[in-house]
Parts: sequence; C-alpha cells; structure tokens
Amino acid sequence: MSAADAADVAVGAEPVRVGWPAPVSDDHDSAGFWEAAARHRLVARVCAACGTTLHLPRARCVRCGSFDGSWEPRSGAGRLYSYTTVTHQVHPAFPVPYTVVLVELADDPAVRLVGTLDGAPPLTIGMPMHVTWEARGNGTVVPNWAPDEAHGGASA
Ligand SMILES: [Zn+2]
Repeated sequence: MSAADAADVAVGAEPVRVGWPAPVSDDHDSAGFWEAAARHRLVARVCAACGTTLHLPRARCVRCGSFDGSWEPRSGAGRLYSYTTVTHQVHPAFPVPYTVVLVELADDPAVRLVGTLDGAPPLTIGMPMHVTWEARGNGTVVPNWAPDEAHGGASA
C-alpha cells in the first residue's frame, strides 16, 4: 500500500477541531486546494505556461501573466521553517500553550504552510515534518503538521 492509498483510508477519520476557524473553501483562487485537502491530498497551484508555483494560490501567474494553471500534487513532507509557542490565551477555543509552526514543503520550497501543535514540544528549525489532516466544524479538512517520529514526533 502506498502512502497515497493509506491517506485514502483515513479520509473522514481525521480529528475535528471544534470551535476553530474554518477556511472559505469555495473561493475561486483556492477551491482546488480545499477540494484536494478533503481527500487528504496536498497540492500547489502551478502555472502551466512557465512552471512557477503560485503560492498563495491565485488565478494569474506572477511571473508570466498566464491565467492557465493547475493543481499539482506535493508529497506532504516538509521542514520546520519557523515556530512560536503561544502562552497567553486570547480565545477559549485555543487553550495554551500551543505552538504555531511554519513548514516549508520539501518538494516545493516556494510553499510554506502554517499549522499548530498542542503544547510546547521540543522543536528545531529545519527538522523534518509531515502533513496531517484535521476537520473543522463546517466539514472542511485542513492540513496540519507533526514532527517526524525519528525526531520525537508522533505518527499521524
Ligand atoms: Zn507563469
């Protein structure tokens, strides 16, 4: 069974973060990202004319001006680019401490995605991370991140 097949098995079984903000998933520029996420697929918008990754996703290429783009699969492997641990609670849905991570995709460094980890786990800039999936109350599924097991993280 490939990693992609394993992801199919887990669709619909992801943890639900009740009370957390949910993305607008029918936006013209980002709908393809959310449609893929619902199937536990990580994708990036790529210009069909010049190959530039368009992140944040947008209709028009910032490099060549083309409106011809597609959603291309990404592996879900990344490296920790930055993080901060929040210790001052500002909303009841976000108990502290929690850690906000910024992860750079291993196979597309033009894409950095934000996630959160419960608590204040030991982290090191550049450590390997992998994508996990979380549902929101409105039925959308969002990517999140976890450290790879070899670096002290839990399996997703
Ligand atoms: Zn282009």
